[in-house]
Formats: sequence, structure tokens, C-alpha cells
Amino acid sequence: MRDLVIIGSGPAGLSAAIYAKRAMMDVVVMEKAAFSGGQIVNTEKVDNYLGMPGISGFDMAMKFREHADLFEIEFDDREVMSLEDHGDHKTISLEDGTDLDTRAVLVTTGARHRNLGVPGEEEFAGAGVSYCATCDGAFFRNKEVAVVGGGNIALEDALYLSKMCSKVHLIHRRDEFRGEKILGAQVLETPNIEFHPFAKVTEIGGKPGSLELKIAEQVNGTPEEHMLLVSGMFIAVGTVPLTDFIEGIVELDEAGYVKAGETGQTSVPGIFAAGDVRTKNVRQVATAVGDGAAVIHYVEEYLNRLLK
Ligand SMILES: Cc1cc2nc3c(=O)[nH]c(=O)nc-3n(C[C@H](O)[C@H](O)[C@H](O)COP(=O)(O)OP(=O)(O)OC[C@H]3O[C@@H](n4cnc5c(N)ncnc54)[C@H](O)[C@@H]3O)c2cc1C
Repeated sequence: MRDLVIIGSGPAGLSAAIYAKRAMMDVVVMEKAAFSGGQIVNTEKVDNYLGMPGISGFDMAMKFREHADLFEIEFDDREVMSLEDHGDHKTISLEDGTDLDTRAVLVTTGARHRNLGVPGEEEFAGAGVSYCATCDGAFFRNKEVAVVGGGNIALEDALYLSKMCSKVHLIHRRDEFRGEKILGAQVLETPNIEFHPFAKVTEIGGKPGSLELKIAEQVNGTPEEHMLLVSGMFIAVGTVPLTDFIEGIVELDEAGYVKAGETGQTSVPGIFAAGDVRTKNVRQVATAVGDGAAVIHYVEEYLNRLLK
């Protein structure tokens, strides 16, 4: 039986894996995606991680994985579908129907993008509607596009797209951004970004390459509806935690994040959570890496008690 199965190889999972391996645990990391690195792979530039100014998200992910590979950590590219608690051991069910027994589990499954939830979104997803500016921005070179959202990711997307698109419409339901002030100021100073405050996309129509966005907007306090024609649309309205597979096993908060503090201990002894997937206020690479490092101390304490 394994000592520890880590689910997810984003910054939290990789950081934890290095600490676990150095603590001589028999550990395996499960990853459902083609790459390690998690969400950060989707960003053009990371400017706020210590010691790596301006690094691309992809390069950062590769560096993290290379570091883990130096320790000969075992990876398994199967998705974890469910988890059962049997007290002194846990059983993990994988996508191919096999089961894996382990003494402890660390959930570092992070989050995925949130949908806007308007008519046309599903139909045009991948055909004009995107959730990743760095992945799909180049398809819209010299074209007019829209970005929806007001947080860091929406602001970064608008700035990134402004470098290659003829015009970027930033559509946000408030007049103030939720993202960092420095990014908001850069957006407002960029000549080819047009900011639409108090505005919502209510429907997506048209055809691939020529989208018709129905916009409900407040102009001088009066509600108005109009159509905006763009070649592409980028949705950046937040993230939702990937915790479906542990619903009913560990306690989740109202938004679906795993209830766990700095020790990573969940409501079930032997099941730990770290990184974006747990309840906390700041979700960044630095906090995920910190969580991954810290939680292994508590996993080790748990295993020592269990095996005494
Ligand atoms: C576009 C974008 C830009 C960002 N820019 C920055 C930035 O500039 N600076 C910064 O500090 N942070 C940034 N972030 C946030 C940062 O990426 C996250 O805080 C960080 O990646 C969280 O790490 P994590 O390991 O907790 O989760 P994640 O990175 O989400 O990794 C989770 C991993 O678990 C895997 N997984 C999920 N479910 C399963 C399953 N059932 N079975 C197996 N594997 C599974 C996923 O495939 C993924 O690889 C950005 C995020 C995005 C989306």
C-alpha cells in the first residue's frame, strides 16, 4: 500500500511531491492532463513569483516538473474519479476502473474556468468563444475581440490581446475592477482597449469568426441593449474548484472548496487538501507552492501516528 497519493500535479501537487519524496514516503502523483503545471500553463507571463520575473506560464510549469523529476517522483496519468474512506486506508478509483489503496491522500486538484451561462456559449465554445487568451489569442491577430470579466485574469487577457488584436472590448458588470490596481490602470491607458462598464453579454449569436454579442448596458444610468460584432470572445469570469469527485466524502464550503486550514487537514483524518482547491483568500502560485510544502509536515505526523 502507498503512503500517499497526491491528486493533481499543479504547483501545489509538485511542491508537496518533492517534500514527500524527501521525507522518504512511498508517493505517487496522479495527473489527468497532458502536462504538469496546472492552471498556470494558460498564462503568457508570470510577473509575481519570486526569482522568476517575466517567465511564461508554460516555462514555469516545465521548470516545476523538471525539479520534481530530479527526485525521480512517480507520476501516473490517469484521472481520479472517486475516493472512499476506510479509516486506516483510502481507496482511489481511477478512470480505467482500477482501484488504488493508500494510507493518506492529498487533494491538489485546483480549479477550472467558470462558464458565463448565456445562450450560445456552449455552441460557440472552441468556435469563437475561448477561456484561454494565451492559448487562442493568436487566432484573432488583427481582429476585434471581446473579453468578459473584471478580475486579474480578464485584465491580463485584455492586455495580452491588445498586443495582437486591432481592438479589445472589455465588458464588465461593474465600473471597478476586482483585479490588481496596477493592471486596471494599464488597461485604462491602453488605446485599443475599450472598457464597457455596467455591461453584460446576454446572448452569443452569429457564426464562427463573426460573433454577434447581445449586450445589456447602463448608459448614463439608463438600461440599453445593443449588438457588438467581434471575431472572438474570451470569457474570464472566475474559477470553480474541481471537487466533484470528493463531494459527500469531505466537507466542502458553499462555493465547493475543500474546508481545510493551513495544516491541509480536511474533515476526514488522512485526507488532506492544498493549493487553490482549499478554502482561502489568495489563490496564487506562491500560496499553492507554500501549501504543498507545509502540508507534508502534517501528512508525516498523521502517518507516524497511524503506523505507531
Ligand atoms: C490564466 C491564468 C493566469 C494566472 N496568472 C497567475 C500569475 O500571474 N501569478 C500567480 O501567482 N498565479 C496565477 N494564476 C493562478 C495560479 O495558476 C494558481 O493559483 C495555481 O496554479 C494553483 O495551483 P494548484 O496546484 O493549487 O492547482 P492547479 O494549478 O489548478 O492544478 C491542479 C492540477 O490537478 C489536476 N487534476 C484536477 N482534477 C484531477 C483529477 N480528478 N485527477 C487527476 N488530476 C486532476 C489538473 O489537471 C491540474 O494539473 C493564474 C491562473 C490562470 C488560470
